[in-house]
Amino acid sequence: MESKTKNSILIIGGGLIGLSIAYQFARNKFKVEVLSRNRSESAGFVAAGMLATHAEGLEDELLIFGQQSQSLIPEWIRNIENDSGINCGLKKCGIVVPFKNIKELKEFPTYKYGKYLNKNNLRKEINGINGSWEHGLLFEQDGQIDNRRRLMRALERACSLHGVKFQEGSDVKELIVEKNKILGAKVLNATGESKNIFCKKVILCCGAWSKKILNNLPIFPVKGQMLSIQGPENSIKRVLFGPNTYLVPRDDGLIVVGATVEDKAEFNQGNTPKGINQLQEGIKSLLPEALNWPQMEHWWGFRPCTPDFKPIIGRSDIGNLYFATGHYRNGVLFAAITSDILFKLIQDKTLNNIESNFINKFRFNRFNI
Ligand SMILES: Cc1cc2nc3c(=O)[nH]c(=O)nc-3n(C[C@H](O)[C@H](O)[C@H](O)COP(=O)(O)OP(=O)(O)OC[C@H]3O[C@@H](n4cnc5c(N)ncnc54)[C@H](O)[C@@H]3O)c2cc1C
Repeated sequence: MESKTKNSILIIGGGLIGLSIAYQFARNKFKVEVLSRNRSESAGFVAAGMLATHAEGLEDELLIFGQQSQSLIPEWIRNIENDSGINCGLKKCGIVVPFKNIKELKEFPTYKYGKYLNKNNLRKEINGINGSWEHGLLFEQDGQIDNRRRLMRALERACSLHGVKFQEGSDVKELIVEKNKILGAKVLNATGESKNIFCKKVILCCGAWSKKILNNLPIFPVKGQMLSIQGPENSIKRVLFGPNTYLVPRDDGLIVVGATVEDKAEFNQGNTPKGINQLQEGIKSLLPEALNWPQMEHWWGFRPCTPDFKPIIGRSDIGNLYFATGHYRNGVLFAAITSDILFKLIQDKTLNNIESNFINKFRFNRFNI
């Protein structure tokens, strides 16, 4: 008789990507353990939750990758919601990108996927938009998930209900390697106790901190500061994605405002007057009346960036070590396809063309421990 639980998978990092992968395996009866140093530092709790494949102007294989992930998201979210009982706030609300002139609009990489808006229609779509914007592109296929208040909690709950074992406060210091095989991880727990945890397969999902475990992974942090304001309900219905700032309206009138892009800040904690000022200037340039709405929260986090802005997903040269990291600005968008790829890879299942192209190109096989 087949046993109920399959292979044991050790996931290092309980952020957005780690949880998404843990959920995928656990709901398919794998035994999964997640080592998480600090859930609240996860960029999964920081992100604006935009599903902005087209509004971000992704190009080439990243565009196709985003489109493919976006097509998986409705079912992915439905499963998470059914299992957790938590509504994740998925909305295909559309994203508007405003432009000052037609040349900029026509040069936008995903121009052909958008619906053209003249000044009048731009105002109809975004009531109160700053009059300096002359044109717009509406990407009706893009949208958002409420990651900060809902998705992360829903994933944690769904994972727990499927039996995922969490070890919060576990700081993985190094991998235990023997004869080209990973045996497990050396962990320092929150009370300063050190222990070894063993497993059959390891997936490294430490986001911006991944390089601290494997020094030659080309990952570095790009800090982002955010704030939220409470507007009237339905003040804007679509996401407004300006060149330096975006406004993401949630159902209850909360507007998430992001984000600074600071590639020299390393892991410096905290909001700065300069960062907050930049966001306020951004609000003024997009939706001036929103400057009068009360500010609710400020927060910050670290995007896991790679030199070519593409994630590192795949199997390493060491057979039982896998990577799912470097999702930079699009981890919420890419989470569904990433967990699918890892699930197939670990079981040696066939990947579709888009997935295998991606893996072949970005598979990370250049390190030795
Ligand atoms: C300001 C900002 C706005 C963003 N907006 C969007 C958006 O609108 N749409 C979108 O798609 N994406 C967005 N993102 C990107 C998205 O949040 C990230 O790509 C995604 O969260 C990456 O997930 P991850 O699991 O790799 O990393 P994280 O979510 O950061 O999780 C990594 C986890 O690993 C743990 N960890 C690290 N080191 C260790 C260790 N040694 N031992 C144990 N655990 C460890 C950490 O504690 C952390 O919990 C945004 C990011 C930021 C910062």
